Amino acid sequence: MNLLTDAWIPVQQQGSYQKIGLQQLLCGEASGELCLPRDDMELAGLQLLCAITQVLFTPKDKKELGRFVQQPLTPENYAEACKSKMDWFDLDHPQTPFMQIRGVDAKEPTPMDKLLAGVADGTNKTFVNPPGLGEALCGGCAAIALFNVANNAPSMGGGFKGSLRGSTPITVLIKGNDLRQTLWLNVLTEETAESVMPWYQATNNQRPNYLDTVKAGDKFPASAIGLARGLLWQPAHFELLPAQKTGICSCCGCDEPVYRGFKKAKFNYTVEGVWPHPLSSRTFTVKKGEKEERFPSFTTTAPTWTHLSKLVVDQLDDKQGQQAAPVLQQARTFMTANKIQLIIGGYRNNQATVLERRHEFFSLAQGWAEHGLVIHKIIEGGLAYKTALRKSLFTFVSGALVNPGSKSSRDKISEICGCIEAVYYQQTEHLLHQVFAEVKFAAPDSTLQALNRKLKTVVIDLFEQATTPYRQEPKMLKALALARRSLHKSLKELEPEGAKA
Ligand SMILES: [Zn+2]
Repeated sequence: MNLLTDAWIPVQQQGSYQKIGLQQLLCGEASGELCLPRDDMELAGLQLLCAITQVLFTPKDKKELGRFVQQPLTPENYAEACKSKMDWFDLDHPQTPFMQIRGVDAKEPTPMDKLLAGVADGTNKTFVNPPGLGEALCGGCAAIALFNVANNAPSMGGGFKGSLRGSTPITVLIKGNDLRQTLWLNVLTEETAESVMPWYQATNNQRPNYLDTVKAGDKFPASAIGLARGLLWQPAHFELLPAQKTGICSCCGCDEPVYRGFKKAKFNYTVEGVWPHPLSSRTFTVKKGEKEERFPSFTTTAPTWTHLSKLVVDQLDDKQGQQAAPVLQQARTFMTANKIQLIIGGYRNNQATVLERRHEFFSLAQGWAEHGLVIHKIIEGGLAYKTALRKSLFTFVSGALVNPGSKSSRDKISEICGCIEAVYYQQTEHLLHQVFAEVKFAAPDSTLQALNRKLKTVVIDLFEQATTPYRQEPKMLKALALARRSLHKSLKELEPEGAKA
């Protein structure tokens, strides 16, 4: 199975499902939207397609990238670009199989479900995943799963190295009008690559680390890793067992040759510093003169919009800052006339256990590139109203409890406040999405005011709902009065200066 020549990309168009090849897609001979039953596999499939496109074609500059976005390739262009890289993308290659190492020393084979993040680990997974998911994987799904584990998922645990971006990074992609455009919009030009990794030219001829392997125990700086090598980085040693001739893929459901197990082995090395992945923003702090960079990830249940500033807005000062993903930095220079659509996803984990997965769409109205401060303000508002609600309920519950300082009372308080916070996020999520998509970034005041009014209504309603059941009890009345006073004081503070009178 070769990812450059076989039909492995599952797409859906007008209700019909088929698998197409990358050549058909890039040459405009076939199209459709990526379609897999697991949203994380779909996202990883898209990332893999972008990575292959980047490795095959790195446009010189914006102009050439624009041409690729507009015009499909010719089959000759495609064949020429693939010529020297066929060995990189063959899942069953006798020496250098895709994202694998031959001769992995493992006593027992591991079942394939271990390659699907979150299926085999943890508890209660039967509620999230249907039974049988991951028993056998076809070539395309196996390739996506290998790539996903190497790039997005927590490591296998127990000494296995995680991805170049750490454990569970947030991935950001730009969405085009169709799948072909989407791939190109997430490819860096040479110009951009040189600006985000000054070592780009010097490392341009490198091959992936499953072809030119790293020595065990090696230590090297992130700047020793070139663009293609980093995009296809395999942090661990995996080897698929030979495929069986036929079977049903437990991920896409197709009847194809399937893989039923793989071998895995720990492998140790040290990468110093952070590799600037094209699809990730980075935050940094400076401590004792040393710059520490990190990739943001979903660490709480707070919705994705609360992270948006970190993902799309640059902020740089001496002590700390954040920088948008290189693909977005690039898009700022030529995608300014229209709104931009983003695909944002990632896992939330507790060590090797996946707790949650996300794969969402966001639209940002025209003007997003120049008005980061507005994005910041919208998020700040959304969070401030949540805090006002939480604070007033805290006042109410702790006032109503006999012994608010005790452990059981504190648990009760945090349970009630956490619950109401989740409902607030649920009820406002659509509203926030709408504001980002429609705000006039150059003159945002009326949108911001309308947003504040709506958030205020939600907060008051939720406060009433949460406290109504206790209103008949006389001993609660004092607590309720105090809580209500706290709420209205907070809400007043959130109103813009002019409206306070
Ligand atoms: Zn499959």
